[in-house]
Amino acid sequence: MPKWSKEVLIGFVPVLLIFLAFLGINIVPIIVAAAMVGALLVITHMRGGIAVNAGAEKKRKKNGPAKLTFEEIGGQDNAKQELREALDFLIRHEEISKFGIRPLKGILLTGPPGTGKTLMAKAAAHYTNSVFVAASGSEFVEMYVGVGAGRIRDLFKDARTRAVKENRESAIIFIDEIDVIGGKREGGQQREYDQTLNQLLTEMDGIYNSETPRILLIAATNRKEMLDPALLRPGRFDRHIQVDMPDKKGRKSILELHAKNKPLHPDINLEKVAEEAYGFSGAQLESVMNEAAIYMMRDNLTQVEDRHLAMAIDKVMMGEKTDRETNHEEKKRVAIHELGHAIMAELLRPGSVSQVTLTPRGQALGYVRHNPQQEQYLYTKDYLEEQIMIALGGAAG
Ligand code: ATP
Repeated sequence: MPKWSKEVLIGFVPVLLIFLAFLGINIVPIIVAAAMVGALLVITHMRGGIAVNAGAEKKRKKNGPAKLTFEEIGGQDNAKQELREALDFLIRHEEISKFGIRPLKGILLTGPPGTGKTLMAKAAAHYTNSVFVAASGSEFVEMYVGVGAGRIRDLFKDARTRAVKENRESAIIFIDEIDVIGGKREGGQQREYDQTLNQLLTEMDGIYNSETPRILLIAATNRKEMLDPALLRPGRFDRHIQVDMPDKKGRKSILELHAKNKPLHPDINLEKVAEEAYGFSGAQLESVMNEAAIYMMRDNLTQVEDRHLAMAIDKVMMGEKTDRETNHEEKKRVAIHELGHAIMAELLRPGSVSQVTLTPRGQALGYVRHNPQQEQYLYTKDYLEEQIMIALGGAAG
């Protein structure tokens, strides 16, 4: 039920009761019945809550102890290196405290979705032989003030007790989507979020070097600019590691990792696939390998071939083929439109068009696939003008 409708209901019911009483109707039985229904709802909600917590507990147990190693993460060489260096603080804690260096309490992983932030946190737990406890920012969002803060307390308690039980010296708490609870506090209505964030800050302040198990918080977000400065100040999340979209080399190594358990035809060149999958994240590359294996199965074959990978790239890029019925006139218009893009692209960059398709996929009725581009981080004015011309080529057609 949306929040506003709950609030409307809370306001409407007393008014209705007063109105009925005013009309001379005996409202006592209504109130008793409502109280009984309310009590029943509270009991079911609590049971649901327990079930949800049990679910979360189960999920955490499934998450840890983390077995994933840094070698199982493709690309991201810089991020992995930075993270390993930061984690050495946790491992070499005695040396660090001897020199009076304060413990590292929080590491913030930032970057686009699906680039491997969760994998990094798991690998960090493996590298430091820590217990791994994971939660997502959205798990702390509740309508009732104090519930989120309570969950933060439980999370830290859970990490400590599990580390003691499993006889480990440290625990890593991973909070995904930290921006949900760690957004800037600007006063106003967000009181529940404020309490949750305050609790998180308090728990972080309570982490000491001397204490065992030692706790390290790793958080992930793709909206760092939205975070409250209190979270980012020295002594809290003061290590920021950028987990970027993989470059061609990174894409190739991610594809290799996900190809390990799949039967690939010996002719397949993963370097070429990595080139074709320009701009794909790790999660998308995993999906490409998975979809290619599905296409292979559909063809009743036992080895993934080049065309399966090409179809998988199209699917991940554009979406599944749709069975949208288009009439002749529409097909003609789509063909002219796509050819407009293609002719313009060929005029400006000869040999750049690899495929023109009129099969509807996802939201598109047709599309032009361009040959793999070089990794490019800076664009020239000429390049951007060419892009605009190619885009307008469709309309001209
Ligand atoms: P989000 O921000 O959406 O939570 P994320 O950055 O945490 O995403 P992960 O959950 O770590 O992304 O990755 C999702 C999946 O994508 C992984 O389970 C894995 O299969 C694949 N993946 C992503 N990046 C890599 C990588 N660098 N190497 C190998 N697999 C990867």
